[in-house]
Amino acid sequence: MPTKYIIVTGGVLSGLGKGIAAASIGHLLSSRLKIVPIKCDGYLNVDPGTMNPYEHGEVFVLDDGGEVDMDFGHYERFLGVSGKTKWNLTMGKVFDMVRQKERRGDYLGKTVQYIPHVTDIIKNHIFEVAKEEAADLIVVEIGGTVGDIENELFLDAVRQMKEDVGRENIVYVHLTYVPIPHGVHEQKSKPTQQSVNLLKQRGIFPDIIIGRCAQLLTREIKAKISNFCDVDPEAVITGLDVEDIYEIPLIFEQEGIAGILHKKLNIYSPPDMTRWKKWIDNLRNPTGEITVAMCGKYTKLEDSYASIIESFHHCSAHFGYKIDLKWVETTDLKNASCLDGVHGIVVPGGFGHRGTEGKIEVIREARERNIPFLGLCLGLQLAVIEFARNVCGLNGANSTEMDASTPHPVIDILPEQKTITEKGGTMRLGAYPAVLRPGSLVHSLYGTSEVSERHRHRYEVNPAYHQVIQEKGMVFSGCSRDGRLVEFIELPGHKFFAATQAHPELKSRMEVPSPMFYGFVKACIG
Ligand code: GLN
Repeated sequence: MPTKYIIVTGGVLSGLGKGIAAASIGHLLSSRLKIVPIKCDGYLNVDPGTMNPYEHGEVFVLDDGGEVDMDFGHYERFLGVSGKTKWNLTMGKVFDMVRQKERRGDYLGKTVQYIPHVTDIIKNHIFEVAKEEAADLIVVEIGGTVGDIENELFLDAVRQMKEDVGRENIVYVHLTYVPIPHGVHEQKSKPTQQSVNLLKQRGIFPDIIIGRCAQLLTREIKAKISNFCDVDPEAVITGLDVEDIYEIPLIFEQEGIAGILHKKLNIYSPPDMTRWKKWIDNLRNPTGEITVAMCGKYTKLEDSYASIIESFHHCSAHFGYKIDLKWVETTDLKNASCLDGVHGIVVPGGFGHRGTEGKIEVIREARERNIPFLGLCLGLQLAVIEFARNVCGLNGANSTEMDASTPHPVIDILPEQKTITEKGGTMRLGAYPAVLRPGSLVHSLYGTSEVSERHRHRYEVNPAYHQVIQEKGMVFSGCSRDGRLVEFIELPGHKFFAATQAHPELKSRMEVPSPMFYGFVKACIG
């Protein structure tokens, strides 16, 4: 079977959920097909690693160490794939490639033009990924909205693709907005008509239109959109406003999108949504509730903790429990009374010293009051600092990130980190293996002797302090193969006190919640 392509574009407004729509379509087809998502972003940054989380939300890290758009999180979670940096194509990357080719003399003296030279780069990149991955289906999402200057070249490239791959191997899906204006009480199709016209002016004739709407689209509006936009009436699909994005695949299934794609692309992959329905049902009808304190710095900006929120959501679906996240700002933490009544405490990742002393206090409370505690990256480092200060008696222990002249640098940059200059400076990025200690809590949670989780940090537990910390009872339950890097810690005899230098939240899935979160939530439920 030749590789099939689904191209997803958006119109009318940004923020309609193109990424979720593309990922949901993929999800419905993922039972038997090897699907690879490709995201095209119009901005000129080469990757989002350098972009401010305030502006861009969480930086999502892949196994290969690539720092990509948080949309990749949705793709990984909905498609069950492990993304690669190459699957994120930004205009910055495209121009980089064109320039390199030009300087190498590859264009043989020709005038280098947007069409065909830049669009060829885009198409070839997509075809290369298809080939390398031996993909059955490539889902290409074009960022932005039709009419934006930034995505014109991507749109032209995907327009041309139908000639390259054959009309029977490509489907164009366009996501638009169907408003129900206040006082009008009627679904309106005009924005969709106009948006589709913009697309047609660019030579793209959509096969499927998804209309984002507060209600299911009526038969009348579907007929009207079908008539004005030249698509089959059954190919007009509702993109319903939902409480929970995990409901979107179910909506699309009800609306018959898998059948339409089968008809157009001849790909038979009937979705089995039984388990998915059960999870959604659990989320809608929880049998209990817990409150978890999230002690962070960007607590006002929930997008910067997107994957952690997702991980709890997966646990919610599995346990049938509602998990309330209580955002605790540790910068101005006056007393620990904000922890009263919480069932568990999370200290997530972060950079810089602001709020760290508050977090260390929170961790002390968790340890002394036997409240379940989960530390993620910075959370592990602060748990080690707290233990060093209050149990090992190492006064003033700290990380050199917070205090360069601490008498006890229990967290420090290791010499080997200083030589990493490739990506993100001295950052340890991407998947690294950890060997788990038999009999430990972490070992029982993962059920394997070695695990691989993703990293994004500079500092490590300082090997000079390994011995004294362990002698006082903190267990290093997972370490790098050479034993030099501490990857997991835990305190025996506590309800649940565990932390990792990695970011297990990046690999949590609805199908298999992250073992660290699963164990933590289980302890919180008690
Ligand atoms: N700031 C810490 C470091 O660089 C932790 C980073 C993180 O939590 N992602 O090591």
